[in-house]
Amino acid sequence: MENCLFCKIAAGEIPSNKAYEDETVLAFHDIAPQAPVHVLIIPKTHIQSADALTEANDALIAHMFAVARKLAEQLGVKESGYRLITNIGPDAGQSVPHLHLHLIGGKELSWNN
Ligand code: AMP
Repeated sequence: MENCLFCKIAAGEIPSNKAYEDETVLAFHDIAPQAPVHVLIIPKTHIQSADALTEANDALIAHMFAVARKLAEQLGVKESGYRLITNIGPDAGQSVPHLHLHLIGGKELSWNN
């Protein structure tokens, strides 16, 4: 989608610190990490948020969670624990309107991080 920051990152038009990539999903380190591990997992296709998902996206979502599990292991937080968050809309603080999972860990997390 034009003028979507994460579409541009997915297309390689804006650089990112990649943690994982395949045909449908990209993961990259958050530019303003809230914890020692803070990675964003996005679909390469534009989906505004989790609220815009349909059954057609079921396999994609399952894949995003599979990527999250793989990254948690690679980044060393599988045993210590981690949080997966997706913000939806303004009250949740969604600042980039392209679906993303935050994978956060590497420290004991409070409810507010
Ligand atoms: P949210 O507020 O849930 O929409 O999350 C958006 C996240 O994207 C925030 O944690 C930002 O720090 C992060 N972010 C914004 N721009 C970039 C960028 N160019 N590269 C990596 N992360 C970014």
